[in-house]
Amino acid sequence: MGMPETDTTERHLLSDLEPFGLSILRHDPKFRSLFENATAGLVLASLEGEIIEINPSFCRFLGFRAEELEGRHIQELTHPEDRELTGIALGSSFQAETAGALTLEKRYLTKEGGSRWGQVTSSRLYDNAGNPTCLIAMIQDIQKLKDVEERLRASEHFWKSMLDNMDDAVHIIDAETGKIVWANASFLRESGRALDEVIARNCHDICFPHPDAQLSALERCPLQQILSSGQTTRAEHRVKGVDVRDRYLEVTLSPIRGDDARLKTIIYASRDVTRRRRAELEAEQLTYNDTLTGLGNRAMIVDQLTRKINSDQADGDKIAVFMIDIDQFKKVNKTLGHAAGDELLQTVAMRLRQSTRRSDTVARLGGDEFAIIAAGPPELRDTAAFARKLLDVFKEPFNLSGLDVFATPCIGIALYPHDGLSVADLLKNADLALEQAKQAGLNTYRHYSAKPNCDARNRLMLENDLRRAIDLGQLFLVYQPQIDIDSGRTFGVEALVRWQHPEHGLISPARFIPLAEESGYILPLSAWILRTACAQASAWRRQGLPSFQLAVNLSGCQFRAPGLVELVKKVLAQTGLPAASLELELTETILMDTGPRVCGVIEELKRLGVHIAIDDFGTGYSSLAYLKNFAADRIKIAREFICDLEDKGNRAIVETMLAMGGALGMHVLAEGVETQSQLDFLALRGCREVQGFYFSKPLPDLELPDFLASTGSHPKVVPISNRKPRG
Ligand code: C2E
Ligand code: MG
Ligand code: MG
Repeated sequence: MGMPETDTTERHLLSDLEPFGLSILRHDPKFRSLFENATAGLVLASLEGEIIEINPSFCRFLGFRAEELEGRHIQELTHPEDRELTGIALGSSFQAETAGALTLEKRYLTKEGGSRWGQVTSSRLYDNAGNPTCLIAMIQDIQKLKDVEERLRASEHFWKSMLDNMDDAVHIIDAETGKIVWANASFLRESGRALDEVIARNCHDICFPHPDAQLSALERCPLQQILSSGQTTRAEHRVKGVDVRDRYLEVTLSPIRGDDARLKTIIYASRDVTRRRRAELEAEQLTYNDTLTGLGNRAMIVDQLTRKINSDQADGDKIAVFMIDIDQFKKVNKTLGHAAGDELLQTVAMRLRQSTRRSDTVARLGGDEFAIIAAGPPELRDTAAFARKLLDVFKEPFNLSGLDVFATPCIGIALYPHDGLSVADLLKNADLALEQAKQAGLNTYRHYSAKPNCDARNRLMLENDLRRAIDLGQLFLVYQPQIDIDSGRTFGVEALVRWQHPEHGLISPARFIPLAEESGYILPLSAWILRTACAQASAWRRQGLPSFQLAVNLSGCQFRAPGLVELVKKVLAQTGLPAASLELELTETILMDTGPRVCGVIEELKRLGVHIAIDDFGTGYSSLAYLKNFAADRIKIAREFICDLEDKGNRAIVETMLAMGGALGMHVLAEGVETQSQLDFLALRGCREVQGFYFSKPLPDLELPDFLASTGSHPKVVPISNRKPRG
């Protein structure tokens, strides 16, 4: 409310009336008409404030009739809270030496008992002698103005208290000067400053861009974004923390424009999501982390590649995927032990990380396979240089438990978008390129090339042929004897499948079984093999051939699909082969890959009375403790160890397997025995069972009976007592 003040124009107007005095004002027709018709309220009062006369406007203003007001004191019509002010005004107009007008805003009481705001301009009137005779006041109705003012104030209060109560930190920036014009309580709390310390500061003094240039512009400084785009901006703003760790803010910057559409003000709201983000990052770390090496894992590669493909499609950047495999890694595991193998993987991981950029993604996909996604736009030449750099990573020897060991990698490279548009295609083609590199030799790299797709086409055609092979009678089984060293007797026969292709000739199962596994055709194929082998063995039994156990190989797919137990049950029933005459061979890889489900299936098979053998033992990763759970009847030492018994490591492994199998009460069979010296070595270490070319190649069904007949006791087996250790 303003203090009374003097208005000089008014004073002149009123002073012109002075000589006329009050009577003229009241009786002169011109003034009379002015008085009666004025839109403003007019009041004539005594110098003390007693009302002499009022005009109709004033009556309407307060809802009284004229006679109800005349003779009353002006204070009676004044709102109690404004009486003091009115008193002062009356006093000062009375005391004023010179004629003058006073203006004030005050509330009047209406007849209805309410109040109304008026703006009063009052002045004294004088007689001819210059003595003040009375007061005249003009009252403007300013209630509407006051209502608007009040609403504005309420609205401002509402918004401010709402913003103040928000958890989000809000500050408002003048877009032209960059100065902060207001900030809410959250903002002040978080910045540790008082409002007056914040207001008029430049916003950049308070929120600075993150120093890490690797972050996106939006992450670093969202303010820059809205200043250049003028559009609402949402971002996750990274803030360099006071401690070493960054804070994460979820920010929304809203533009407010002036009438000229120019950006005037920015409302900057931010929410600290550091805790949530860190939890997310930790979860990501768990999901995407390879615990052995600390690198990313396959999930991380897939995720990163998906992201890069999605974001890079926009700017047409190239992405290079490098697939890296350590040559002969299994040998390290076998000869130096798994701890050394792990050490090698960890060192390789560390060296790869060191020789790549931060923006590259390095991961271990599993086993000894690593993958790198290189950022940037790699041209073919650059990827070759990069691949050579990766080969160099292996130049220095690896110190594994005190031993300097050299290892070499093979590298396959696939480029986006050239070699595949989807994540799956890129990874598959990088893998194919890796295969091509491996075929080319050790320590080399290959770019994916569509040409070996011929290979893929051939595979596809072969796959199609395979589907018809059973019906066309191209598949048949051969049987390889398994010999008991002590007696020389053939105690078992392993059924092995063959494919006589009309164009390609005899195709090895090592080639077409994986093909069948990929295409899903393995299930009907395996069922056919089992049925044919069991029927044959049963027929031989009926023919009175010396009895033996039939061994049949199983594929991992059969454990992943339901119905294996039922199949075995049905085949045994249909062919009449006793369950105890059947042994099923499964590899360690099957045990490890197909998980706990396998245990249950094996249990059920064993309950049928069927025997279980672990094939190619030593080439997988199973531990002794693990093996015990399966209660296998037999382990078959992989051919790889037997074929190189010159190797000290292999000899030690074979000895351990024999000792261990015996301790666990399992039969131990050595596969791939080709020479007398291998046989001797094994026999001397207590090996009782062998299989291999030294005794017999796998035989067609027509030839097996003769073999069995000729070897009631095998001539090549010399009784242990007559043997002399060699070497
Ligand atoms: P496996 O089960 O370990 O079979 C032994 C393989 O070693 C056979 O090769 C056999 O011919 C070969 N072999 C036996 N003695 C000697 C030897 O003294 N020296 C050498 N160099 N090799 C020997 P094959 O028949 O080519 O089979 C290869 C693999 O294919 C088998 O390894 C098995 O994993 C798979 N396979 C073969 N037949 C079947 C089948 O009917 N079903 C399934 N699921 N897989 C089969
Ligand atoms: Mg086998
Ligand atoms: Mg084997």
